[in-house]
Amino acid sequence: MAKIYYEDDADLSVLNGKKIGIIGYGSQGHAHALNLKDSGAKVTVGLYPNSPSWEKVKKDGLNVGTVDEVAKDSNIIMILVPDQVQKQVFDEHIAPFIETGDTIMFAHGFNIHFSQIDAPKGIDVSMIAPKGPGHLVRRVYTEGKGVPALVAIHQDASESAMATALAYGKGIGSTRAGILETTFREETETDLFGEQVILCGGVTSLVKAAYETLVENGYQPESAYFETLHELKLIVDLMYEGGMEYMRYSISETAEYGDYTRGPRVVNKDTKAEMQTILEEIQTGEFAREWIVENQAGQPKFKALREKNINHPITKIGKEIRAMMGWLNNESK
Ligand code: NAD
Ligand code: MG
Repeated sequence: MAKIYYEDDADLSVLNGKKIGIIGYGSQGHAHALNLKDSGAKVTVGLYPNSPSWEKVKKDGLNVGTVDEVAKDSNIIMILVPDQVQKQVFDEHIAPFIETGDTIMFAHGFNIHFSQIDAPKGIDVSMIAPKGPGHLVRRVYTEGKGVPALVAIHQDASESAMATALAYGKGIGSTRAGILETTFREETETDLFGEQVILCGGVTSLVKAAYETLVENGYQPESAYFETLHELKLIVDLMYEGGMEYMRYSISETAEYGDYTRGPRVVNKDTKAEMQTILEEIQTGEFAREWIVENQAGQPKFKALREKNINHPITKIGKEIRAMMGWLNNESK
């Protein structure tokens, strides 16, 4: 049976007398820092010297210092800079200041699992990985709720790494929703697999192919957009609320029959075989090596692909259509 920890399984007093350093003030960083502070923990945010976030952190009522200062001063260091820069930030600005008995924490296992960061002996290495974007981690906390998270222990020098990690998880609100125990390996491999084959890669490829098919056959781009992108959220919301069976209960029988008979022709045994290959590239470290080399080269392929995708016709029509929907978040238009 999977182990899930809730409010009564975690003790915030474990954090008493401990200084928590949050490195990075982006999506996850700001949410962790503010939630922990509101939960009564002693938090300082670590930024690089000329970071544009410096003023924002102060305005949010938090202490701030350079990464070096915060790493030196903290007992628990949560590393929330982008995964591609974590190795460099750790090697140059955190490792020199780590002392026996400290804890370093991550919100994603990539750098530990793929051996980019080599943690010294004598410290705890753990993970609290919220299963949601940072702005939700903050918003739902202020509403008295929480975003679920994963917990994993890579190194347990103190023999109390789990208690510390769970106290941290409680401090950001995640024990309200549940914290599932996992390993760095499972979290890293399932996270990469999910974002590649379904959540990000799978779904956008499906939307683009369906959109292009309709437009190439002379249908209005607006109709194609509504059908293939806009409506996706409504369907996914139903599955989120009540599973596939609830979604199918809500749709017409015509839609349900088309679902059973045509869906498996689109995502077929070849698709599943490709998913298997993609999973193996993750497990063998091939994907990680490719991405690390790409970053070392300055991201030429990544930047070209980003450009190509921004220039897809669905971007332009989507902007026009969303501009008419006043209730959508302006930032994302
Ligand atoms: P982000 O890109 O939103 O923020 C990163 C922060 O680090 C920014 O404040 C940036 O200014 C700072 N930064 C960048 N380079 C730096 C450097 N060299 N030195 C110091 N600071 C630097 O990152 P994020 O999305 O919050 O991701 C942080 C971690 O959380 C990652 O390990 C990621 O995998 C994990 N995570 C993210 C999400 C998510 O939804 N975004 C969800 C779960 C886990
Ligand atoms: Mg993920």
